[in-house]
Amino acid sequence: MLNAENKDAIRLYSELRETVTKHDTEAGKLLDDAFNWARELHQGQLRESGEDYILHPIEVARITSQMHLDKATIAAALLHDVVEDTSATISDVEKRFGKEIAFLVNGITKIGKLSYKSNEERQAKNFRKMVVAMAKDIRVILIKLADRLHNMRTLSYLPEAKRNRISKETLEIYAPIAHRLGIEWVKSELEDLSLQYKDPKGYKDIVCKLKETKDERVKYVRYAEEEIKEKLSRTGIDCKVKGRAKNIYSIYNKMIRKQLNFEDIYDLMAIRIITQTENDCYSALGAIHKFYKPIPGHFKDYIALPKPNFYQSLHTTVFGPLNRVIEIQIRTHEMDKVAEEGIAAHWRYKEGGKFSEGDKAFVWLRYIFELQKDLKTPRDFLDNLKIDLFENEVYAFTPKGDLKVLPEGATPIDFAYSVHTEIGNRCIGAKVNGKIVPLKYKIKSGDIVEVMTSPHKHPSRDWLSYVQTSKAKTHIRQWIRKEEKEEAIEIGRGVLSQKLRESGSSIQNFLHAKDLETICAYFNCKKPYELFAKIGFGKLNPLTVVDKFIPLPKKREKIAVKEKKNCGIRVKGVDEVMIGIAKCCSPLPGDEIIGFITRGRGITVHRIDCYNIRKLGYDNDRLVEVEWVPEEKQVYPVRISMLVVNRVGILSQVTDMISSYGVNIRDVHMKNVDGETKTVISFVLDINSKSELEKLIGSLRKLKDVISIQRVIKGNPVNASIERSVEL
Ligand code: MN
Repeated sequence: MLNAENKDAIRLYSELRETVTKHDTEAGKLLDDAFNWARELHQGQLRESGEDYILHPIEVARITSQMHLDKATIAAALLHDVVEDTSATISDVEKRFGKEIAFLVNGITKIGKLSYKSNEERQAKNFRKMVVAMAKDIRVILIKLADRLHNMRTLSYLPEAKRNRISKETLEIYAPIAHRLGIEWVKSELEDLSLQYKDPKGYKDIVCKLKETKDERVKYVRYAEEEIKEKLSRTGIDCKVKGRAKNIYSIYNKMIRKQLNFEDIYDLMAIRIITQTENDCYSALGAIHKFYKPIPGHFKDYIALPKPNFYQSLHTTVFGPLNRVIEIQIRTHEMDKVAEEGIAAHWRYKEGGKFSEGDKAFVWLRYIFELQKDLKTPRDFLDNLKIDLFENEVYAFTPKGDLKVLPEGATPIDFAYSVHTEIGNRCIGAKVNGKIVPLKYKIKSGDIVEVMTSPHKHPSRDWLSYVQTSKAKTHIRQWIRKEEKEEAIEIGRGVLSQKLRESGSSIQNFLHAKDLETICAYFNCKKPYELFAKIGFGKLNPLTVVDKFIPLPKKREKIAVKEKKNCGIRVKGVDEVMIGIAKCCSPLPGDEIIGFITRGRGITVHRIDCYNIRKLGYDNDRLVEVEWVPEEKQVYPVRISMLVVNRVGILSQVTDMISSYGVNIRDVHMKNVDGETKTVISFVLDINSKSELEKLIGSLRKLKDVISIQRVIKGNPVNASIERSVEL
């Protein structure tokens, strides 16, 4: 029995069927099967609007037919919600309609609703699934866009929170995707519908003002069309001229972006000139520039350099008819069709909806597909997708003439990564148009970029501050993580090796142990290097590993004697690391210090002004932050050198003072200088802290016949002469 809605559904479906079968006479049976089955499955379901659910799939199918898609896509659109919202499964769809349609339906069916931590995570996973499916078959996303468009048209029936979320998502993701695929009419409608919910007042203001000014604008455009047509026909160019309105959202966006009033926007309308041939486009452009003064900097040739969404056109802005500023777009009929229908127009000439690896037109799609492979978490993927969808592009070329499309502000490093990961990783510099440029250089459209590489070069952390593409960022981060892991392995191995020695064993014994695998497995590691990495990252205490390896009583006695603290120094973020004090500069608590990751000996700690560190450069990747953890009894060897008057009793006077501080003298040397009138005394003292040393030096300075005192930092050229002079 048919109720009112069912009649509506049948009427709507018949119209759709008629339109489709006009172009494809064999489509009828497939569409009927899809429609009837979908109607049966959705029977009794209602939309939020109170309408029969089936009206939604019919509308979605109608939109796909307006995109001029094939019968398989239109049938899949009719079936697009059966798996998600009814008892049907994908294999049911496949049994009835075959693999192709089942694939399309599966591509738009959302991933199950349960078992996700957050809505966001589910959203991200759904997008990822969609991108993978659309990389295999672009028709998946076209159905999804049609679905979203109809949902947006009927959004007012949903509660406010849901409306806001959906329109935000539409603006952030679906409208940009429609734009990337070149389907401008879908993009404009999605944007305008979203704006109604995003900023109802802003939307209404523009609609009102457009209405107010409409008569005047229409009059002007008619006048302009006539004048331009007349002028072009005098030059013998066969063309059509028509006015074209900007959509509301792009007016809104322009007002916000450029902080303009509605009245200040001159390109509410554009004049479009449609020619027969590409040559005519350029002839028409010449004529336009002859009749109307062009505004410099506004000419764009998208015919020679098409946009990644295949858009081709010449754009220029001129002082047009009646001396008003107006944008003029010039293109052929073919280009105009592509500009409106985008990938759909392109797709019509291809079979099966698949894109081939070599097809340059799909640069963006391939890029997004690769992006989702690289990014580990769905969240990262979604964030990057949003960024990439919004970037303006620049077009640059390899020396061989291959086009690379990059976001605005992209650097030669981004370019290098877009050519190949290895080229990015080995990038040392770049030439743009034959000249060497800094790696921070911002690529401009038309640049020919030649990347210079070196097998010894590797990504550096500061690249992250200026690269633009997610691809470059991901690979640079991956590299840094990998390198950090290698360092952690070295440190971990060093620390464990020390602890094993202290327990009377060795790393060799450990690595040759019969139960090595069991020990590793106990700590959830497959290989010893994973165990080392865990120790190096401070996630695993090396003593726990020693405990596991050496029977307890045997180890205890050894450890009791040997265990000592890490010299009173801590590496930030890491607990158990082998730390040594650098002999060249002998830092003391209170000195500013920095750690250097050695090969196999853990970390040595230097004064920040140590000559060896300065030589290394402070941006060296092997430097780590360290800090003092002061301990009372810990002492450090420090060298001081004194210049004194050479007289009897001076040495005992000095050593008495040192002893009165309770400071141990490890070593002392003396040498007479200056014709035996003076003596250099050089000490190695056990000092607890910088302040203790300063107090001691202060007291020593006050002694009779002491000329000067200096702390000696070996390896520092400033003190080198003193150091030599004290070495007896
Ligand atoms: Mn739907």
